Amino acid sequence: MKKMVITCALTGAETTKKDNQNLPITPEEIADSAYEAFIAGASIIHLHVRDNDGNPTQDINVFKKTIGLIRKKCDVIIEITTGGAVGMTPEERLGPIILEPEMASLDCGTINFGNEYILNTLPIMRKFASTMKKYKVRPTFECFDLSHIYSSHLLIKEGLIDPPYHYGLVMNAPAGVKYNIENLDFFVKRIFPDSFWTVLGIGGKASLESHFGAIALGGFIRVGFEDNVYYAKGELAKSNAQLVERAVRISKEAGYELTDPADVRKLLNLH
Ligand code: ZN
Repeated sequence: MKKMVITCALTGAETTKKDNQNLPITPEEIADSAYEAFIAGASIIHLHVRDNDGNPTQDINVFKKTIGLIRKKCDVIIEITTGGAVGMTPEERLGPIILEPEMASLDCGTINFGNEYILNTLPIMRKFASTMKKYKVRPTFECFDLSHIYSSHLLIKEGLIDPPYHYGLVMNAPAGVKYNIENLDFFVKRIFPDSFWTVLGIGGKASLESHFGAIALGGFIRVGFEDNVYYAKGELAKSNAQLVERAVRISKEAGYELTDPADVRKLLNLH
């Protein structure tokens, strides 16, 4: 039976309570939301944290506290962000890797994000990749663009990352590549051979459509408030778990068996 891995991106850096009052912000809220998403069927939690004012932070202590609270509740896999937020330095973004999470995102190129950008030169990416290797963290190559996919090939060929490889194909970010099945297929055909991939559709329409794209092309699904705060057009989601539950239903109807964290630890050889 085909296996489906569901990642839930609980909070992100840009979303606020004004977008959806159900957004988890504090370490306690994030841990509760992680647990609910895990119970609903997510194997991986993609983690950003916020400071006391609700602003994105890469503060190691806030990550440590949040991860501790999640660990008290469940053994869901934690993928921390190293994309951080607009305006953060690379050193700031990479900081929490010393906590040795099982997974982390690794942006594979400079990203236009609406009016802003997040800088990722090749030297920055090499530093991120080698640091993740040192701390035995499995990177998710976040690719917003075709050039990012080819940059990931360079990092692999330079021996900075060991297999198995996992991609996060990000589509429909503001000023980014639109989500549609042709674009997704084009990306999937160019990732490093024999890699796993998850599609990240940004915004309600792209997020839901990308579930079907993942199913059609043999990838994994990501949901959550970081990518989309709506359940349907004009209807805000009640929780991250509600979005996970729908992805689970769709996957099962399509004949997929849902993974648990133990399956994914084996599949991606996590430490
Ligand atoms: Zn993120």
